[in-house]
Amino acid sequence: MSENKKAEKIVGVKGMNDILPADAPLWELFENTVQSVLKSYGFQQIRTPIVESTALFARGLGAVTDIVEKEMYSFVDSMNGDNLTLRPESTAGVVRAALEHNLTYDGPKRLWYAGPMFRHERPQRGRYRQFHQVGAEALGFTGPDIDAELIMLCQRLWDDLGLQNIKLELNSIGNADERNRHRADLVTYFEQHKDMLDNDAQRRLHSNPLRILDTKNPAMQEMVNAAPKLLDYLGEDSRTHFEGVQRILRHNNIPFTINSRLVRGMDYYNRTVFEWVTDQLGSQGTICGGGRYDPLIEMFGGKPTPACGFAIGVERLLELMKAAGEQFTPNQCDVYVAHQGDAAQLQAFLVAERLRDAGLDVVLHCSSAGAGSSFKSQMKRADASGAAFAVILGEDEMAKGVATIKAMRLGEGENNQTAVALDNVADHVLDQIACGGDCDHPDHNHHHHH
Ligand code: ATP
Ligand code: MG
Repeated sequence: MSENKKAEKIVGVKGMNDILPADAPLWELFENTVQSVLKSYGFQQIRTPIVESTALFARGLGAVTDIVEKEMYSFVDSMNGDNLTLRPESTAGVVRAALEHNLTYDGPKRLWYAGPMFRHERPQRGRYRQFHQVGAEALGFTGPDIDAELIMLCQRLWDDLGLQNIKLELNSIGNADERNRHRADLVTYFEQHKDMLDNDAQRRLHSNPLRILDTKNPAMQEMVNAAPKLLDYLGEDSRTHFEGVQRILRHNNIPFTINSRLVRGMDYYNRTVFEWVTDQLGSQGTICGGGRYDPLIEMFGGKPTPACGFAIGVERLLELMKAAGEQFTPNQCDVYVAHQGDAAQLQAFLVAERLRDAGLDVVLHCSSAGAGSSFKSQMKRADASGAAFAVILGEDEMAKGVATIKAMRLGEGENNQTAVALDNVADHVLDQIACGGDCDHPDHNHHHHH
């Protein structure tokens, strides 16, 4: 780089977002809630790599799905020529890991995961190239009970997050035989209406006609509505299973609508499929998709093992939380420690550590570029940090062996400064926090720290 030429800025990759500190509290709230809900249903976390063999997805997701056809970030490892892919979803990886480590040898397993996924789509609201999912996979369960449990877990999560406008759509896509018979009739039907099919639908007519039912093209809605319904092709076992799911949901007052056109993007699904949708996010309104995938484990070379799962799109869910007016107090800390002079700086380190020992979040003023370290500028920092208290150590304080504690949230004219012996700083701050910063006030609000 030449000395007088300014370095060119490198920017982030299109469709891949930075999650900035201002949004971190929302992410943390969501992550903590989802973790505790999953735990309350006995789900255990599994963490698999972001990179897998390309073959895993090609086999697992089906060659003619949107994802495998055009959305995968695949590359050749330049070190050894391996064909690798950034995971576009996690079910395939979780199932691979479960097989590789024989996780279901001693019975069925309830698993969950969270993390980034990668799909090369056109970036738009609610659709990114790196996005995040939280999902659950229940491996080795046969009955409709686990399908219903997964759905109820989601309902509890929406409730705990205070979200009210997420609606459940439910369908059964039967088994392969049932789908084949339906598919044959469906192709015949679409061929009879070939003039009404858009380009996407034309392309899918023989590769993946079920997916045509999922079209968002308004011009095709009426024709698609009148198409043969897979539900009418279900055999005894599939129907009983589907009714079992519905019975449990009804018994637990979980509202749902049956959407006979609901299909899932991946080939491995069978029987129960569901989506949680909202009308508050524009066209990207699906928050969570899930269903049963009994054939997948055998497709991966394992012994036949039924399974069911779901995946939540975290960015969409967070947007919904924001729309619901979720309020955050993005305070950086409880206490800001300001100081001036060498002796005071050393004392400030000690005081800050004592405050942290007491469980408080503490920002110790450190020297920085571009700003002075006058008390005035330090107090500006203290204010911006959102701290309820500033602990001030100057030459006066050092001479007297005290710290000045300033309540940052009291109004003008109120007595907001107290001198406290250095040994008592932590206790004093804890007491003040316990009574809302104003212990002298007769009707102070009690609120608890953390
Ligand atoms: P869509 O029909 O919106 O493309 P999908 O069927 O591809 O969804 P799934 O593979 O079922 O989606 O993933 C589960 C959830 O993950 C979706 O319901 C959505 O909330 C979220 N999701 C999927 N793709 C993206 C993306 N590119 N950006 C953000 N979230 C996404
Ligand atoms: Mg998609």
